Amino acid sequence: MEGIKSQTCLVTGASRGIGRGIATEFGEAGAEVVVNYRTSEAEAYDVVDEIEAAGGSAIALQADVCEFDEVEAMRERIHKAFGPIDVLVNNAGVTVDRKFENMTCENWDRVIDVNLGGVFNATKVFYDDLKESDQGRLINISSVVGQQGNYGQANYATTKSGLFGFTRTIALELARHDTTANCVAPGFTKTDMLADVGEGVQEKIRQRIPLKRFAEVEDITGIVRFLASDESSYMTGQVLGVNGGMEW
Ligand code: NAP
Repeated sequence: MEGIKSQTCLVTGASRGIGRGIATEFGEAGAEVVVNYRTSEAEAYDVVDEIEAAGGSAIALQADVCEFDEVEAMRERIHKAFGPIDVLVNNAGVTVDRKFENMTCENWDRVIDVNLGGVFNATKVFYDDLKESDQGRLINISSVVGQQGNYGQANYATTKSGLFGFTRTIALELARHDTTANCVAPGFTKTDMLADVGEGVQEKIRQRIPLKRFAEVEDITGIVRFLASDESSYMTGQVLGVNGGMEW
């Protein structure tokens, strides 16, 4: 078992939160890691330092996943530094929460642009890399909210359930190239995204979780490492819920 030792892995939105955890976990496992960020430059370089301090290899690259040209430019820089990638983790995501009756077209478009548009752009730009890799892996980070819906998150829930259909379809199309595509659907996880939710609402959510706690980033990253590794080579088109036992 080689795990992900010889893989080149791109994690979108890896400057903070779950993406940061995935990038450091990949780096510690010996992969070459690309830490993508949009605005948090200092944090992205911290992630690179952390990976290098653990003996790994990483670069930080700025690109807004909503902008196709920026993602293409990132591919050029990755190819120069490491060559083609083997693993793409579509992790970058945002929330703009409003009750549907107060949701504006801008609120809707912003979340669709990042959470679905960004996934389209990165998957499109790196499709050939994944297709041609000996251990190609596409991993899309969805959410339990895509399975259950959530008050005030019609835009976000739509994007996260959209990833299920996208992942299953790409899995079918990539299968002939022996490349897999899977989705991880985390439950509520302790990151800046959850910190934006008010204390009272957080407590109500916590009560609905059978394990009665929010996920630590590390609860999610091990599953992503498994999906990126050679141990998951017969698993494709799946959604892995990592949510403390919440119902689908
Ligand atoms: P977070 O702490 O808010 O971090 C979001 C990351 O995405 C940041 O690194 C940010 O980069 C990046 N990002 C946002 N827009 C981007 C863009 N247009 N281009 C490139 N990067 C962009 O969020 P998180 O909680 O770690 O969430 C990560 C993923 O997990 C998301 O897809 C989210 O939907 C999903 N998820 C989260 C939870 C949760 O409870 N936290 C639960 C289920 C699923 P910059 O700071 O550099 O802009």
